[in-house]
Amino acid sequence: MAGTIGFIGLGNMGGPMAANLAKAGFSVRGFDLAPASLEAARGAGIAVAGSALEAAEGAETVITMLPAGRHVVEVWTQLAGNLPAGTLLIDSSTVDVDSARRAHALADARGCPSIDAPVSGGTGGAKAGTLTFMAGGSEAAFARAEPILKAMGRAIFHCGGAGAGQAAKICNNMILGISMIGVCEAFALAEKLGLSRQALFDVASVSSGQCWSLTTYCPVAGPVPTSPANSGYRPGFAASLMLKDLRLAQAAAGAAGASTPLGAEAAQLYALFEGLGHGGDDFSAIINLLRGRDTGDQG
Ligand code: NAD
Repeated sequence: MAGTIGFIGLGNMGGPMAANLAKAGFSVRGFDLAPASLEAARGAGIAVAGSALEAAEGAETVITMLPAGRHVVEVWTQLAGNLPAGTLLIDSSTVDVDSARRAHALADARGCPSIDAPVSGGTGGAKAGTLTFMAGGSEAAFARAEPILKAMGRAIFHCGGAGAGQAAKICNNMILGISMIGVCEAFALAEKLGLSRQALFDVASVSSGQCWSLTTYCPVAGPVPTSPANSGYRPGFAASLMLKDLRLAQAAAGAAGASTPLGAEAAQLYALFEGLGHGGDDFSAIINLLRGRDTGDQG
């Protein structure tokens, strides 16, 4: 497949995503501030550049996968000041909706089509090329981006105009944070009531309590053998990343005047959990906080 892509931000997610683009036949030139990420990218068939602008030079498409909104706005300001009109810009980082819209505006002013396209699926999905992309931007920009995103993901959604991808991502993850806490509370209550975890799982997984946090990602060991509870709550999806997304949802809710009381409570609980030193644990380990334990058992 033809096409030259500049890829900026080759970390835990960006590294394997860029590698999948190279595997799919794109010519990929990458840049990261961290020398170790550059080294790993070189080993995965990615040409390494000395700066973001060098990675983007001559590329038809530039993708950013960076930690937060300020990094994206900083890099896109450089790109939009230098790239030729018509270069497609894609940001797949998870950032606040406001920064996403600012990045789109920078691209627009340069005559560059752009989409925000955050992902879900984690590092496992990034490596396997099975990410879900939620995109915001014009139909024309999405149509250009879609075949590129398909080389890194399995499900690709166009959610609306500028910022709609980020909006979909934080709304989904707010559901996830709240539902995980709900499922954890139910298992903690069941323990106090002498109800076995398997009995609660068997009933709730085919009843109205059914949800992804229960049936795919069960926060206690046993009922779903592949869930992180079975392996000492090794992530998975780290509690600190859940907290990041819940805080983005709260910032967006504040700016939009939306009332999200359970999202606010979930953000507070994850902040407490991170403060106790568990930011690196899987987010389902928050069951131990609800059990009144600082450290967990094996699920
Ligand atoms: P990471 O910290 O591993 O990677 C980010 C990379 O960006 C780092 O290697 C860093 O050196 C680089 N970087 C920072 N500023 C830069 C700049 N100005 N120029 C070039 N490189 C720069 O983070 P990650 O886990 O890959 O996550 C990236 C984004 O994806 C985040 O927004 C995160 O919220 C989101 N995300 C992560 C996961 C996950 O499970 N890790 C899942 C979904 C979404």
